[in-house]
Amino acid sequence: MSAPSCDDRPGALDIDSAHRRIAAAIEPIEATERVALRAALGRVLAEDLRAPLDIPPDTNSAMDGYALRGTDLDTDGAAALRMVGTAWAGHPLAREIGPGECARIMTGAPIPARADTVVMQERTTADGDTISIRGGEPGSNVRAAGEDLPAGGVALTAGTAIRPAELGVIASLGLTEVPVRRRPRVALFATGDELFEPGQTLKPGGLYDSNRYTVWGMLTRLGMEIDDRGHLPDDRTAVEASLLAAAAENDAIVTTGGVSVGAADHVAMVLRDHGDVGFWQITMKPGRPLNFGFFGRALMFGLPGNPVSAMVTFYQFVRPALDALAGAGYRRMPTLRARAAVDFPKKPGRTEFQRARLVSADDGSTAVEQVGPQGSGRLSSMSRADCFVVLPADCEGVAAGEWVDVQLFEGLV
Ligand code: AMP
Ligand code: MG
Repeated sequence: MSAPSCDDRPGALDIDSAHRRIAAAIEPIEATERVALRAALGRVLAEDLRAPLDIPPDTNSAMDGYALRGTDLDTDGAAALRMVGTAWAGHPLAREIGPGECARIMTGAPIPARADTVVMQERTTADGDTISIRGGEPGSNVRAAGEDLPAGGVALTAGTAIRPAELGVIASLGLTEVPVRRRPRVALFATGDELFEPGQTLKPGGLYDSNRYTVWGMLTRLGMEIDDRGHLPDDRTAVEASLLAAAAENDAIVTTGGVSVGAADHVAMVLRDHGDVGFWQITMKPGRPLNFGFFGRALMFGLPGNPVSAMVTFYQFVRPALDALAGAGYRRMPTLRARAAVDFPKKPGRTEFQRARLVSADDGSTAVEQVGPQGSGRLSSMSRADCFVVLPADCEGVAAGEWVDVQLFEGLV
């Protein structure tokens, strides 16, 4: 891999090119396994799943009401019919509906033989066994067997990420095991002599490691198998040995810190010496030093140490890359548009990912507001935010009322 130069620093790559480089470099994990239904949540489907039966299995009622023959309705949709029984969900009526007859039916109950129409309860009146119908429409309120998924058809395609909806679809097919790809195994390190573990007593100049917790959280949400390898000191020999060992046992390595041009930035130096390097820097803020490449056969992301930069670069690049490694394809964070509720100042030069929060404007539309100071060391700005406002490299700031691009950190699924 070679790094073309761009924009504000020699060797720095623009964001689109960085995405293209990463997407092109990743080869998805091919190994598969079968897991129990619930364990498939968050995994990637390894094969197309065909429906072994119609979904729904029976033609059934979409309403509580009366099942009848559409030909019994007059031109106004009215009829007076004799009730011959009741069809319940799970308890089909064991007789057919003849001319002039109807059956009481509950939502989800199979439509009795020879009936083809359901008239909702609210459009009927009962007088003993005689049911007066008004406003019925032939063929209405009936859900056909197989209308959602026909037997033999592909219900879910290989490469689908299994969310709660897919889990339900697989359950509806009656399956108890799911063929999925093996999960990527990801080694995680934080680097820096200043780092202490929560619970330890800080020494002068020390601070508690937060990156290994934010990154662990994001990796966990992504469904990765995590190999947490703790802290590395700012020591070349230790960094070198640890990265080599991690590369032999993992599909990917994510580190934080030590990737810039400082004298203690050993991750960058070791990657330069041993790795196959894609790029070092991206014209973005925060997150300019971002090392991407391969270390042995492991995909390597050296994230910046600043806590906000580590999270921003993870969301932008590591998340789609690990999804692609898992077999679900490389998908950049989706971008929506919202109105700026306040001014978003910016200097031209780099694409900025400003931390922000969605709010409802007075007219009911969605707007986006600032969450306070944007320093890349201020992790609390991420905690107050639910989205990024993405301001392109050449943008010189946005005034309140203008439209901006917004990326949500989290979806519903
Ligand atoms: P570096 O990228 O190693 O130069 O670190 C940049 C800044 O991020 C420094 O202020 C570090 O102290 C801070 N930093 C690095 N790693 C962590 C971490 N794991 N948790 C919190 N802050 C960190
Ligand atoms: Mg450091």
